Amino acid sequence: MNSIEGENAKEEIEEILSKCIYCGLCNSNCGVFRILKEEKVSPRGQILILQDEIIDKIIYACNLCLACEEKCPVNVKVCDAIKKARFAMVESGKVSKGNKEILDNVRKFGNVHGKIS
Ligand code: SF4
Ligand code: SF4
Repeated sequence: MNSIEGENAKEEIEEILSKCIYCGLCNSNCGVFRILKEEKVSPRGQILILQDEIIDKIIYACNLCLACEEKCPVNVKVCDAIKKARFAMVESGKVSKGNKEILDNVRKFGNVHGKIS
C-alpha cells in the first residue's frame, strides 16, 4: 500500500473530505460501483480510503465522471480529492504499474499503446 506523501496534498485532501457525512447517497450515482458492487470502489469507499491515507490501484477505478458530486447533499468535491491524491502519487514516484507502462510508451513510441506494427 502506498500512503499519501506531501503535507500540502494531505491537508488539501483532508479539507475537501472533512465535509463528508458518509451518507452514501453518492454511491447510487457511481457507474463503477454499480458494476463492481464493491464499497471500496464507491465514492464513499474512496473517501474512506483517502482518509486512511491508503492509496493503491483502487483509486484508479474512478473515472472522474463527477456523478457522485451531483448527489452529494454537502457538496463534497470527491473528484478534486481523487485527482490530488493521484497527483501526489505521481509526484512521489508512486505510479501504478499500468500508468507507468502508459508513460513509458508515450516516451518511447509517442503513443499510449506502445509499439504499433
Ligand atoms: S467520479 Fe468516480 S467515484 Fe464519483 S461517480 Fe464517477 S466514477 Fe464514481
Ligand atoms: S460524498 Fe457526499 S453523498 Fe457521498 S457519502 Fe459523503 S456526504 Fe454522502
